Amino acid sequence: MAHQGSTSDYAPPMLREAHAHIVQHGRAMGMLRLDDCLDRDDCLQRVAMAAASAHDTPPTNWLLGVGVRAQAWPDPTYPTLDELDSILGPRPCCLWSFDHHALVANSAALAATGVRPGDPDPPNGRFVRAPGGRFTGLALEAAAKQVYSAVPEPEGAERLEVVRRALDDLARHGFEEVHDLLSQPWLGPTLAALHDAGELRARVWLYPPIDTLEAVARTRREWERPGVRLAGGKLFADGTLNSRTAWMLHPYADPIPDMPRGQCMADAGTIQRALERAHGLGLGLAVHAIGDAAVRACLDAFESSHATGRPATEPSLPAMRIEHAELIDAADVPRFARLGVVASVQPCHLLYDIEALERGLPDRLDRVLPLWELVDSGCVPGEGLWFGSDTPIVRPDPADSVQAAVRRGRAGGPRIGAGQAITEAEAWAAFGRRESSRGA
Ligand SMILES: [Zn+2]
Repeated sequence: MAHQGSTSDYAPPMLREAHAHIVQHGRAMGMLRLDDCLDRDDCLQRVAMAAASAHDTPPTNWLLGVGVRAQAWPDPTYPTLDELDSILGPRPCCLWSFDHHALVANSAALAATGVRPGDPDPPNGRFVRAPGGRFTGLALEAAAKQVYSAVPEPEGAERLEVVRRALDDLARHGFEEVHDLLSQPWLGPTLAALHDAGELRARVWLYPPIDTLEAVARTRREWERPGVRLAGGKLFADGTLNSRTAWMLHPYADPIPDMPRGQCMADAGTIQRALERAHGLGLGLAVHAIGDAAVRACLDAFESSHATGRPATEPSLPAMRIEHAELIDAADVPRFARLGVVASVQPCHLLYDIEALERGLPDRLDRVLPLWELVDSGCVPGEGLWFGSDTPIVRPDPADSVQAAVRRGRAGGPRIGAGQAITEAEAWAAFGRRESSRGA
């Protein structure tokens, strides 16, 4: 899939997508795409067109959009509840932000969610209200998830369809192995059904939420197949860069009030207990850690649990992998290779996060994705350093991550931490490709 700014038109045959959300990718493929809207009016017009073309479907059917990037608009204001209501009437609608940490909903969607203006916000979430208490339609973090949970989940044959569609698309991008980083309890059985029907296009590793790991492990014999495997549990140590909830060692230049360094969602002690839980089952742990404080907490936790002996995980499974690691303090870089912790990163996010990084961390841009230092300190691309996309949050074109790792920015745009660039061959190797036909 050629696109503007690609560093290479060579499509490698066999790759690993180390961080994907298979079900969300399949569902997002069926949603209205809003990534490239120029402004709020453009966004509303596209919603109106989608609503018009859905006029002959039942009015209770949801209209779902994804990819809203209000931060990039001249007026960075999300569409409002009133604007959506005037377009959609009784049809429930929600539009995800590109990073899936916020959405805007209309009145019908909020009614389906069962939330009323006087209700308290959920923990770790917020329904943004206008002065006087009316909903604006914007729901953040856990509140966004609460709205989305009112959308009917795929059932029965639709599950097969969603998962098949996602894996077929990833296979078209060259991926023969896909790691799912927050697996639904029904994903394993669905993959087994696809395998048994001869329709599974990629090997899949599953990482269900750590809280469900024992329960999922009890059923694994029923659905594990050659190429479908339970690999470990997933835990969140912090939030995201764009929402200023990634947990940092130093304050943001533009923090959320009362959260100068973002938000710790799991400290080293909590991570260590999760590690011991996963290792007790012979499985690994994948921790979402974007800020450098979250990354350090992961490494501290692993080092402490390590002190009592090597974890007895199944061969070929990493005992610990840190997901995202967008900022890493210089003192922590060598700890990855020394401890055998996998850095599972998505350089493609750099292409979207440049403005947020320049605003929030103007004096620490050299700590963003320090790929050169990681490789230099012994993280072998493809072994200790893995690339993925986090699809559907960012599209899964591997050329995007290769471009970001090599050029450290968009074509013709500013470069972030240019000294941390790696070679094109190293970047493809981080996707699991053994050698480059182009050299580097
Ligand atoms: Zn993810």
